[in-house]
Amino acid sequence: MIKSLIKDSDFITSPEVPGPTKEEIRCLVMCKSHPRKGDIVVDVGCGSGGLTLGFAQRVNKVYAIDQNPQAVDITRKNLIKHDLHHKVELIENDALSSIKDLENFDIMMIGGSGGDIKQIIELGSKKLNKNGRIIITAILLETKVESIQKLKELGFDVEIVDINISRGKIIDRGTMMYAQNPISVIYTI
Ligand code: SAH
Repeated sequence: MIKSLIKDSDFITSPEVPGPTKEEIRCLVMCKSHPRKGDIVVDVGCGSGGLTLGFAQRVNKVYAIDQNPQAVDITRKNLIKHDLHHKVELIENDALSSIKDLENFDIMMIGGSGGDIKQIIELGSKKLNKNGRIIITAILLETKVESIQKLKELGFDVEIVDINISRGKIIDRGTMMYAQNPISVIYTI
């Protein structure tokens, strides 16, 4: 069943916490990661829960990790608001300390890594079920390069898509396009 995406404006936000990942990017992540009903997903760096909620609508179970207690709090509030809290276990810790204690999973989503992207990919790849996927949203060039290098080194087939979105805003004389921050989505196939 195709689930609709929650609108950006329907998320509770906080100035202290990044996210939610923009709707158009969440749309691409949900499409490229091929979530299935029975899947277990780990969302590393859940921020405001933008991607956590998207996965929670589609799969069996999500582990949402963030080292920022405020991010965990906002994600919890968003999960409750959208009645998805029963699907998600929130973990307030850094990625490297938490991933190793998790059960194996089908999708590892990485939306924040704090410079540990290579180690996070390496650790997560050991916990991936057969046919598991890794998907990364990256704003820094370094994260993009390091992710691709590490995924290739581990033998994954990798694709990267750059998204440059402009949203139309209707003003007096017509419609003006407003550019959003460009972002790359890196994913295994
Ligand atoms: N995808 C999220 C936004 C992610 S923002 C959304 O849609 O709302 C990135 C988040 O990653 C931040 O909240 C930051 O605290 C977290 N983060 C960065 N490095 C981390 C690490 N090593 N371990 C856990 N969380 C991390």
